[in-house]
Amino acid sequence: MQPFRYIRAHDNQAAIRAAGTNEAKFIAGGTNMLDLMKLNIENPKQVIDINKLSLYKIEELENGGIRIGALVKNSDLAYHPTIIKKYPVLSEAILAGASPQLRNMATTGGNLMQRTRCPYFYDTDFACNKRMPGSGCAAISGFNRMNAVLGTSDKCIATHPSDMCVAMAALGAIIHIQGIKGTRAISFADFHLLPGQTPNIEHNLHQDELITHVEIPALSFANKSHYLKVRDRASYEFALTSAAVALDVEGGKIKGARIALGGVGTKPWRTIAAEQALIGAPANAQTYRKAADIALAGAKPFKDNAFKIELAKRTLVRALKTAEGMS
Ligand code: SF4
Repeated sequence: MQPFRYIRAHDNQAAIRAAGTNEAKFIAGGTNMLDLMKLNIENPKQVIDINKLSLYKIEELENGGIRIGALVKNSDLAYHPTIIKKYPVLSEAILAGASPQLRNMATTGGNLMQRTRCPYFYDTDFACNKRMPGSGCAAISGFNRMNAVLGTSDKCIATHPSDMCVAMAALGAIIHIQGIKGTRAISFADFHLLPGQTPNIEHNLHQDELITHVEIPALSFANKSHYLKVRDRASYEFALTSAAVALDVEGGKIKGARIALGGVGTKPWRTIAAEQALIGAPANAQTYRKAADIALAGAKPFKDNAFKIELAKRTLVRALKTAEGMS
């Protein structure tokens, strides 16, 4: 670990000013950042502790949505009564990730910013365009069983690791940001970036900007939602595949649908084409399979991960059947 300057910010403006003046990083729970610093993958000259900021609230909004402060701990969010009742997909997704100890420390904003778990990214003996732009990608010709099949490029095939983000993508969350120049909001779909030719640039956030909260807009059928995660072991494991779904079924027909996939994409992967294929169709296994085929239509397998394509389809079909049972 390289030496760094540590400061503690007591309000948003102070944090933002400090972030814009140096090669700085915010730290809250530190559940990913400290690992990266110990491995010399992240080497900030200044670490800004933002744990004193007033960003800990979960508030129901008059428009029916919910506002989640960036420093709300993953455990507090997952076990909040409103989240459990109105947004079960979000609670289930968070509880499917990491361990209780990590969820007690990890924050909503930090979860949005967490970096890939591609093993070559963490091993500095290997080439990695995300860690060192232009060095190559060891995963493309290496062991890539855990890597992505959607949204990849010839520079990077790393999956996005978050479960929470998959649920937020399905729910159409909006990320609120404060910077030197004021505030702005980014739709969830536009926050994380595809790797393209610059896999080291992972999100749509500037150096001097701070995530303040995440808004989940009102969705009448968010209470009929489910997160299904398939992984190599029952806990403390990243997804091979996952699906976050919400389904509105009336009289055997689908009136509304939301679908996002995890474990297969280079970012949390909402698939609007598959959602549209469901709307107006009968709620049955054939319809769900057709939507799953559409969701994975653009998938490109690599040497060790072709199995993910069929597994993701089955994961999605099963998640949709479960959500149908909630209608
Ligand atoms: Fe690095 Fe991405 Fe290649 Fe993994 S897949 S080695 S993160 S460039």
